[in-house]
Amino acid sequence: MHLPNTFRQISLTLMQPLTEREIRAAFVNCTKGEARRLSVPRDLAERPWEDLDYLGWRDPQAPDRAYLVTRRGDRPRALALRCPAPAPWQTRRSMCSICLTDHTSGVSLMVAPMAGKAGKQGNSVGTYLCSDLCCSLYVRGKKDTGLAVRYRESLTVEEKIQRAAANLDAFLAKVTA
Ligand SMILES: [Zn+2]
Repeated sequence: MHLPNTFRQISLTLMQPLTEREIRAAFVNCTKGEARRLSVPRDLAERPWEDLDYLGWRDPQAPDRAYLVTRRGDRPRALALRCPAPAPWQTRRSMCSICLTDHTSGVSLMVAPMAGKAGKQGNSVGTYLCSDLCCSLYVRGKKDTGLAVRYRESLTVEEKIQRAAANLDAFLAKVTA
């Protein structure tokens, strides 16, 4: 199985447990005030960090807001995301753009305001993500979509992890461009 070079270049950087302070300081596409106020999970210590390429969560008070934190290089980077309700004319997507998992209805369009000046001018980047932000667990076979027939791929788990990491990295690069 030959993978494009971009997959190989991403070395597997395991997520280390992060503290609330580290996460708040890692946001790249919202103001410092927003990063201070937004909701961060309280159970950070119990999250399965060793199985995560990113930690994603939704704001329990505002279901149209989601957040994720990952590692780029040796630094944590966090994104604030909006999940707009799909317009009626939009075709429903069923595949996550990051982990390429197929769902029946578990994929949401998530939009990240761009970092810096581009973001202040109202520019944003959208991607289709697993609605529960559990890409890492689907990729590792630790969570199931419940679909009876699944498209089978010949990639190993490690190759799928690398591919998801490369996709996430590309998304992050677009947001911070
Ligand atoms: Zn996914």
